[in-house]
Formats: sequence, structure tokens, C-alpha cells
Amino acid sequence: LVSRENHDSRSVVNVRGVPIGGEHMTLIAGPCAVETPDQTLEAALMAKAAGAALLRGGAYKPRTSPYAFQGLGEAGLKILADVRDQTGLPIVTEVVDAGDVELVASYADMLQIGTRNMQNFALLQAAGDAGKPVLLKRGMSATIEEWLMAAEYIAQRGNLDIVLCERGIRTFEKATRNTLDIAAVPVAQNLSHLPVIVDPSHSGGKRDLVLPLSRAAIGVGADGVIVDVHPTPETALCDGPQALVGDDIQELADAVSSMSKLL
Ligand code: PEP
Repeated sequence: LVSRENHDSRSVVNVRGVPIGGEHMTLIAGPCAVETPDQTLEAALMAKAAGAALLRGGAYKPRTSPYAFQGLGEAGLKILADVRDQTGLPIVTEVVDAGDVELVASYADMLQIGTRNMQNFALLQAAGDAGKPVLLKRGMSATIEEWLMAAEYIAQRGNLDIVLCERGIRTFEKATRNTLDIAAVPVAQNLSHLPVIVDPSHSGGKRDLVLPLSRAAIGVGADGVIVDVHPTPETALCDGPQALVGDDIQELADAVSSMSKLL
């Protein structure tokens, strides 16, 4: 269902009126985690001012350590919905448990399945049933074929509104948080009709890498980028070192629009 065979053209996924895929490069930005109403609104306004079309933000955080901030849960979803009302930005947010899909889908415009859950088949099926577009991140140790098979689990439930997201894979290299597999973008685009975007924040893990990795993503023809922004990354409860601040996000947006025009 997700394979390029039998599909004449590449798909465009519509998220509350915002297209992902097709002619345009979509910028998605927002805080890694929803922390407070003010922090989320400020991050959303930064994202919107830079031309982001969608707001990202986690209310359910899949953290490596059980002692790390786990997200605000439904309270975070309510904050996101309020910020959507204030800014007009549709929201994409992660769901980590099949039992939460209905609740998260009642607030979200797009469901995110994170790297750690790419092969959580019950979650994929529940997301496929939820009637909302799905952003499917690549598992950090998954092959491209396994990633596409994970997308197939969603598609099999009758939901073809799936966007693939390359977010870096595990390699021996320690200088970056994950190794951005940039070749995965054209490979996945050749094998599948689904749009493919890149997360330079979770792959590089460092603010300074977000712009160059975004340029690489645009250069290989990604359908969009999803980046972390935070008004005060030094106080962030999750992934502050990779969050863009103030002028960074504008610089990124300018690179996205100028490079997209060249291609
Ligand atoms: C995220 O985008 O908030 C996230 C946790 O990403 P990943 O699943 O790629 O680690």
C-alpha cells in the first residue's frame, strides 16, 4: 500500500489544510516537550514568525530514563489545543501507547509515532484507526524496509495519510546524537509514494548542526523538516541543547525558502 508501485505520483498529506509533500517544503517547529502554557505559546510564536506551518510539541515523552520529565499528558494536550486556537497552527504530537491513541487524536491534528515505537505494531494499528494523519519516525536501528513495513501496518487499517521522518540512526559515531542517514530520504522516496521529512534536531542533537543538516535535507529533496525551538533552552525540561532560539529559527526558515526556490 505504501510502495511506489501502482502510484503514478508521490502523495501529498493534508494536515488540517497544511500540505506535506508535493511542490513545497514544509517547516514544522515547536518545543520538544510542552512544559507550560507560556513556554508553548512563545515557542509557537517563534515558529509561526519564521513561517512554520505546523506546531510540534510532546505531551507524552518517551524518555530513556524513567526519572526524566515524562511530559504533562492530557494537560499538555490541552495547552497545545489552546495554542492552536491562539496561533492557528495545527499540531503534531507524539502518542506512545495504543491505549492513549483515542485521547491524543481528540486533540491532535497529526499523530507522531516516535523512533522507539516504530515497531510497536498495536500502536501502529491503533494510529491507523484514529482517522488522523500519522508522522512515522524511523526506528533508530531500523532498516528502510522495516520502516516502510511499519508504515504498511498503518496503511493496512485504511489510513494512507502517513508522512515518513528520518531522524538519524545508531552508528559507532559519538560526535552526533544519531547519524542522519541522508540517503534514506531519496531511497524512501523512490520506494514509497509517501512524503519524507527530516528531523535535524534529534539526529544531530546539537543546535549548531540543525541548520547544516536542514540544508542537507533540502538538498536531497526532503518534503520538510521538523525542528525543536524553545524560548529559553537553558531551562528546557527536555533536549535543550538541540533547540533553536530567536534568530536561529529565522535563519533556518530563510534557508528553507531560498534553497527550495533553487531546486
Ligand atoms: C520527538 O520528536 O520528540 C522525539 C522524541 O523524537 P524521536 O522519537 O525521533 O527520538
